[in-house]
Amino acid sequence: MSNPYDDNLQNISKELKCKDCGALLKYAPGTQKLACNYCGAQNEIEQLDTAQAIEEINYSDFIENKIDKEEKQTIHTVQCNNCGATTSLNPNITADNCPFCASPLVIKGGTTSTLLKPKYVLPFVIDDKAAHITFEKWIHGLWFAPNNLKKQASISEQLKGIYLPYWTYDSNASTSYIGERGEYHYEGSGKNRERKTKWYSTSGTVQNTFDDVCVLASHSLPDHVTRTLEPWDLENLTPYQESYISGFQTECYQTDVKDGFKLAQGVMEETIKATIRRDIGGDEQRITSMHIVHNDITFKHILLPIWISAYHYNSKTFRFIINGRTGEIQGQRPYSIIKITLAILAVIALFVILKNL
Ligand SMILES: [Zn+2]
Ligand SMILES: [Zn+2]
Repeated sequence: MSNPYDDNLQNISKELKCKDCGALLKYAPGTQKLACNYCGAQNEIEQLDTAQAIEEINYSDFIENKIDKEEKQTIHTVQCNNCGATTSLNPNITADNCPFCASPLVIKGGTTSTLLKPKYVLPFVIDDKAAHITFEKWIHGLWFAPNNLKKQASISEQLKGIYLPYWTYDSNASTSYIGERGEYHYEGSGKNRERKTKWYSTSGTVQNTFDDVCVLASHSLPDHVTRTLEPWDLENLTPYQESYISGFQTECYQTDVKDGFKLAQGVMEETIKATIRRDIGGDEQRITSMHIVHNDITFKHILLPIWISAYHYNSKTFRFIINGRTGEIQGQRPYSIIKITLAILAVIALFVILKNL
């Protein structure tokens, strides 16, 4: 452990200094406390009024008038030369690896980033001990895994707690469409009986209400990976305070609020199409064109917690992530070709036996 009275501590706000010894405090997951690693003191986090409804920001007004005036924060950051992820730099750190790709970070190349301040955060519930146990259980429970995986798989990198940047959007969408409704009927009889589809032109308007469509505001983790961590308990969002972040890294957003909305629109469009298909009815539907108007768009910038690391097996590296709220784990994994082949053969054998009964 490094000296708690390091120069870097000069820049640290009062709330993050231990009331007993002045050392930098770290958020204790699952609590409302900051813990001191040096003297063991527990420091209570001041509770903001959480009874207030979660505040959403009007999107159009923000883009047109407020984008330059909104509260910003300047943080020390370092960008990974390999994958491009930009993460906050913890005080006292002189050497570190990128949490996303494990490349060594050039800490000297650290810079500052000025970003919109997050409005809300879901603080960590799962601490690093619990995250380790989750990993052990997961690796022991994998189906079709090589026999020696459990013994040989070892976490090869430090398990890191990171807050990922997200945008969430609300919208009332009104969509007019033109399409076709297909209805089945049958022609011919006996062996020649054939199903045909008759198409009818149709059009209409559908309404969709979207609440908290989440998009990851960075490119460090593939979309299909972060989607598997959902759902997040967004009803428990807490007003952002530095205290919840202390001791963890934060990834900076790379996707701004406008580009984030484009991504959110892509997500919303799938839901809108499904609504149109229901509206068209019939046995099959074609959507020829649609015109979506988003009204009452609001957004907020939030931080969501994950644990991330990697394990080694057979000189390969497999990455995994854990939802810092629920302990849900998702990761890359090796498969045993032998076990899978045996399982397939067993199924085939079963079919043969059943057929001959
Ligand atoms: Zn202390
Ligand atoms: Zn990286």
